[in-house]
Amino acid sequence: MTRDPRFDVLFEPVKIGPVTAKNRFYQVPHCNGMGRAFPSSMTEMRRTKAEGGWAVICTEEMEIHHTADHTPWAGARLWDDRDIPVWAKMCDGIHEFGSLAGAELNHAGATTANRWSREVPLGPSHFPVEMYDPVQVRAMDREDIRALRRWHRDAALRAKKAGFDLVYVYLGHQLSTMSHFLSPYRNRRSDEYGGSLENRARLAREILEETKDAVGDTCAVAIRFSVDELMGDAGITSEGEGRELIEMFAELPDLWDVNISGWEHDSATSRFKGSGFQDDYVAFVKQVTTKPVVGVGRYTSPDAMVSLVKSGKLDMIGAARPSIADPFLPKKIEEGRIEDIRECIGCNICVSGDHHSAPIRCTQNPTMGEEWRKGWHPERIAPKDSDASVLIVGAGPAGLEAARALGQRGYTVTLADKAAEAGGRVARERRLPGLSEWGRVVDYRLYQISQMPNVSLYLESEMTPDTLDEFGADHVALATGARWNADGIGRQNPRGISIADGAKIMTPDDVMAGVVPDGPVVVFDDDHFYMGGAVAEMLLRAGADVTFVTPAPEVSSWTHHTLEQHAIQKRLLDLGAKIHCGQNVASIDKDTVTLENVYNDALQVLAASAVILVSMRTPVDDLWLARPEVTRIGDAYGPSTIAASVYSGHRYARELDAAPHDGVPFLRELVELSPN
Ligand code: ADP
Ligand code: SF4
Repeated sequence: MTRDPRFDVLFEPVKIGPVTAKNRFYQVPHCNGMGRAFPSSMTEMRRTKAEGGWAVICTEEMEIHHTADHTPWAGARLWDDRDIPVWAKMCDGIHEFGSLAGAELNHAGATTANRWSREVPLGPSHFPVEMYDPVQVRAMDREDIRALRRWHRDAALRAKKAGFDLVYVYLGHQLSTMSHFLSPYRNRRSDEYGGSLENRARLAREILEETKDAVGDTCAVAIRFSVDELMGDAGITSEGEGRELIEMFAELPDLWDVNISGWEHDSATSRFKGSGFQDDYVAFVKQVTTKPVVGVGRYTSPDAMVSLVKSGKLDMIGAARPSIADPFLPKKIEEGRIEDIRECIGCNICVSGDHHSAPIRCTQNPTMGEEWRKGWHPERIAPKDSDASVLIVGAGPAGLEAARALGQRGYTVTLADKAAEAGGRVARERRLPGLSEWGRVVDYRLYQISQMPNVSLYLESEMTPDTLDEFGADHVALATGARWNADGIGRQNPRGISIADGAKIMTPDDVMAGVVPDGPVVVFDDDHFYMGGAVAEMLLRAGADVTFVTPAPEVSSWTHHTLEQHAIQKRLLDLGAKIHCGQNVASIDKDTVTLENVYNDALQVLAASAVILVSMRTPVDDLWLARPEVTRIGDAYGPSTIAASVYSGHRYARELDAAPHDGVPFLRELVELSPN
């Protein structure tokens, strides 16, 4: 197939200072939970994206000096020459495919507690560090400022030595010392580095000029800048200082990489923001500079990308998450395979890897982070090892992905589901408020399967032990999912909750089926991810009187790792929910619920005509109990995230017919013992 000519503009080369990007697809810096801690995994992940056609591929934030040490975060590090080989390897992998490598150099002053180096953190003014570390930033004196400029210059030279083509001056997300100097609320200095915007921007200007001087002959020098902090007058705005800063520095960098901050706004989930949500903030930048401008907005549609370029809003299409969900997105557009794009669903499971300093994972792309350690390529898979037939029961994310990947291998696959609609939990959850984009998990796989003559999908086909036997497939995988418990068993109540006769108990499955109880409703969330907050929101929007109860100190606590917690709690409050944190449900009676304070056991009674219990799920594994020789995958094996189900289905497909293996099922790198 060939490229649709209307997308030609996306494949024009772009000159960036002394280097040229081969097309307009630009993978902006993004964290991956691997960095220096899992370097081979990281380098192969970036190399795979180069193979997939991205013209520029950047590192995540890269520590330049031990005075800004993010330990235990598993990001990039370039403290001295000993760190160069990892990055040289990454650059070589990227250059193999004619792409450019970018280094997001950073000194993260006030956002690091220096837990390993034990240096006193540095910033423009005395201030507590981010998070709740009991550590303060020391106000930098002139000698510190001179030193920081030297450290940045030295790091740029190391980046050049490693083979980078593009070096960043990072002024984004309130995550760098330069952005802290720029900030009207962090910088309280009265010298030439404080006060007016020109003074607050002095350090950035000096570093930008010195970086260009040090490496600008062969490396492009980019600025990454958040034009709006969404704090109104308290911070930088795109109509105020954000614009003024770009006007001041307009032609100084070789490229502008612009966005909004903090990270939770820049990487907003689809639950809260649609694709292109940053366009209005950054659209002015191209009017102020002639240098190439990169912006992001979870762009997955090539038509939207073309219109951004043609309307003069952006020169290059920035992408972090779309490049994670589909490392081959540019190649697919180039080859005229638009339908094959695996679109990001905006769930931010990828972010959770960074938060946990564990290798990145992605809901849509089960191979993300597995490129090196398992040798999983996002597009290629080994052909089948036998002519065996496979029956998969359940067409949720696990069953669909297993069928798709087995179909790609060439197996003859039958996928059967008792429901009238494919998708399992995703078919239900995509109807929760804000989660419609999650349906892409199903849509992508259904389309792929529909193109495979060797895969057949049968809906309204409930399987029983007898029909399993009758079918007589060589391999059977049960992807029959899980159901929410109605007994309250969960973290806070391992033996369940005392429930009186006549009490109306519901689960998220009931709410997703559209049941809206009359009278006051209590949503008890002992799950702590999105489900409790989402069903509460659904009920509130349907007009219910909702009280949200959780033993945690806040609503949907785990969603900190998807950058959503604040937005979820705000939304419930805005919709009128009453919220009780630090409370367990001690017992449920016909029209009341008794809450117990998790700290001092104090009791209180609330009126409740119905209680929605969101605590845990139990596998639907009756077929396995009857036929224990079959394999369980996805939630039927261990209820978890949608990402885990997709991964489980993919793994089953990869490993079918492989010899059993008892050891660690992936490659590892070990820290070497020092000879001294
Ligand atoms: P997972 O996340 O593991 O993919 P889901 O709960 O999303 O699990 O999907 C499970 C699917 O299995 C549902 O669509 C459900 O209708 C289907 N299912 C469950 N039991 C049977 C059965 N006995 N026969 C056919 N389909 C079944
Ligand atoms: Fe997109 Fe979710 Fe994958 Fe992140 S984990 S890239 S948000 S689909």
